[in-house]
Amino acid sequence: MYQLVGTGFKEGDVLRLQLKYNASKTYDLPCTLTQMGVAAQMPEGIETGSYRLTVVRGGESQLIGLTNLVVMDQIPAGAQVIAHRGAWNTTNASQNSVASLKNALAMNVYGSETDVWSTSDGHLMINHDATINGINIENSTYAQVKDQKLKNGETIPQLQDFLNILKTSTSPTKLVLELKEHSTDSRNEEVAKAVVAAVKAAGVQDKVEYISFSLAGCKTFAKEAAGTRVAYLKGGVAPAELHQYGLTGIDYNIAEFRDHPEWVKQAHDLGMSTNVWTVDATKDMAAMTNLGIDFISTNKPTEATVIKTYYDEASKSGK
Ligand code: MG
Repeated sequence: MYQLVGTGFKEGDVLRLQLKYNASKTYDLPCTLTQMGVAAQMPEGIETGSYRLTVVRGGESQLIGLTNLVVMDQIPAGAQVIAHRGAWNTTNASQNSVASLKNALAMNVYGSETDVWSTSDGHLMINHDATINGINIENSTYAQVKDQKLKNGETIPQLQDFLNILKTSTSPTKLVLELKEHSTDSRNEEVAKAVVAAVKAAGVQDKVEYISFSLAGCKTFAKEAAGTRVAYLKGGVAPAELHQYGLTGIDYNIAEFRDHPEWVKQAHDLGMSTNVWTVDATKDMAAMTNLGIDFISTNKPTEATVIKTYYDEASKSGK
């Protein structure tokens, strides 16, 4: 059923759907009034596309606007939600802060993503940018970085702080660790090893996953943490190639999946996962879910959870 929410509808109104780029495909659908507006049965054979939607009443018609219809045999379950840089959007928590991690854990979303840099003397720090308050983390010592403050007043966290929280948390939410791209491949390999060692020492191997723009870093993760999901972020590489390197997922920008929707099935056929970043518009969340994507990384985990719930329920009821 196609549901249109609104007021002013009358018994006998007809919804006219006209394919935007092919006006010969026009469907007139008798409506029934509902509490929220009107509902109409979709005709057999209607195709996916952008349609002009008009209400026809007797000899008069009123254009409502454009509507995008997606035709599918089966509604997929909702994509899992990963809070990008923690859950910070609706609170005063800074991105990648302890507070943002705790918020994500409290939401019980699938994952909380965070970014890891190493200082020049091997301390693993949580920060998105290469610099914090003008100090380049990779080229600075721990002593030079450790007292820097985030916008919410917190001191820059270390990876160890996050692992300690994970250790005592009963939340099912996983920590998705992004190794930031350091200046050389050998540095990326070295830092990836150090990250896995810290995770193992904390005993939270089953609560983390790994991602990186560095292919060298991803390959190291796959070697050092076999059995844990490792996904490549940069895009431009088909799943089969990454599979050869032992990676278990693709985690690409939405533009990559628009250009290569076939990569979703290719990845799944290889037993690999698919993750899209960073999706904040609900229509994009729906489009990516329709494509069969497994995970959505978003700055809006609350909205993404609403979309996930909608799909989970619709896929069960078959509507
Ligand atoms: Mg990141």
